[in-house]
Amino acid sequence: MTLIAVSKTFDADAITPVLRSGQRVFGENRVQEAKAKWPALIADYPGTELHLIGPLQSNKAKEAVALFDAIHSVDRPSICEALSKALAQQPRRLELFVQLNTGEEPQKAGVAPAEADGFIAACRETYGLTISGLMCIPPVDEAPAPHFALTAKIAARNGLHKLSMGMSADFAIAIQFGATHVRIGSAIFGHR
Ligand SMILES: *Cc1c(COP(=O)(O)O)cnc(C)c1O
Repeated sequence: MTLIAVSKTFDADAITPVLRSGQRVFGENRVQEAKAKWPALIADYPGTELHLIGPLQSNKAKEAVALFDAIHSVDRPSICEALSKALAQQPRRLELFVQLNTGEEPQKAGVAPAEADGFIAACRETYGLTISGLMCIPPVDEAPAPHFALTAKIAARNGLHKLSMGMSADFAIAIQFGATHVRIGSAIFGHR
């Protein structure tokens, strides 16, 4: 199980004690913010892994591939294409997660459950991407368990072994449903 400490909105002074305590995997939701904060911290704490957990725009794919070790928000063909190009130009290997919109919320990013199998196949066959797993963010006003169960089921039938699910409020339930990566922000850093 990988604990991703979500440091979005927190500055280097807040992050340094967490690095000093030995935590080496961090999550950020914006490419620009991460670019401003992290290169100096990574230089001081080699071996630190950075995960992009927020939406990615195609025109930031190159920067994202250069900075991050994993991207949890692969959710549309334009991103697949941009990632595929960016990865071909840099010798880095990133872990990629397809984001599901299990609650089918119109304002939320992610692939609808009914489209997930087709999208994962396209990632692999059309864009040549290696997908490691699935990510989901359950609707805030619903019990998370059915969303975690659905994500685990879609992963299993597509041969995916990694599950990025669970945040400060629901990580214990996510772990019961097989989470391999929990993304914890406020429980570590306090309120944003
Ligand atoms: C902010 C964020 C988190 C962390 O949320 P907390 O409730 O603070 O633990 C996890 N995942 C994503 C995608 C986020 O944007």
